[in-house]
Amino acid sequence: MLNIVLFGPPGAGKGTQSERLIEKYGLIHLSTGDIFRANIKGETALGTLAKTFIDKGQLVPDEVTIGLLTSEVEKYEEPKGFIFDGFPRTTAQAKALDEYLNKKEKPISMMLALVVPEEELKSRLMERAKTSGRSDDADPAIIANRIETYKKETAPVADFYDAQNKYHKIDGVGSIDDIANRLVEAIG
Ligand code: ADP
Repeated sequence: MLNIVLFGPPGAGKGTQSERLIEKYGLIHLSTGDIFRANIKGETALGTLAKTFIDKGQLVPDEVTIGLLTSEVEKYEEPKGFIFDGFPRTTAQAKALDEYLNKKEKPISMMLALVVPEEELKSRLMERAKTSGRSDDADPAIIANRIETYKKETAPVADFYDAQNKYHKIDGVGSIDDIANRLVEAIG
């Protein structure tokens, strides 16, 4: 099984590159952000809860997110593998995911970390706001909050996978094709 954590700050291109990778490798794309947004749209209790955090640029609490993610994984009977996009976003989530997948003897194969300079991230998110309809993209103060949250809570997740020799740094600047090629090369 090929289980990939696609990692990077908001606006790094995780969603775009996930689409390429699922096609090429036949993987299942699990994006916690997408799942939260679907729940917000469907006005579920989970959506209502998640919205209070997302609108402020904060993380949804670990216990909620971990439960959600593992129940999504359970839905698939014989997956070729998963791309985890936007998860894990805290060290506690990374530990919980490891524990869960190791028990199933389907551990994380690698983390691919997209690296993009902060100014570029901000301009990409502002650009995306024009078409995404995402309220968390439209407000510079919320964008700044998301990037701060990333630095404080999410960036340490890279060290967690580095300690297992699973961390691969990928230059996230360039054309979509170029970046996809870099990812494919890292997957090997
Ligand atoms: P981006 O990477 O562009 O910020 P996402 O779609 O991955 O966008 O996430 C949007 C929001 O959903 C995040 O800012 C956060 O509030 C929430 N979220 C997504 N994934 C997680 C997670 N693993 N843990 C906690 N909150 C999450």
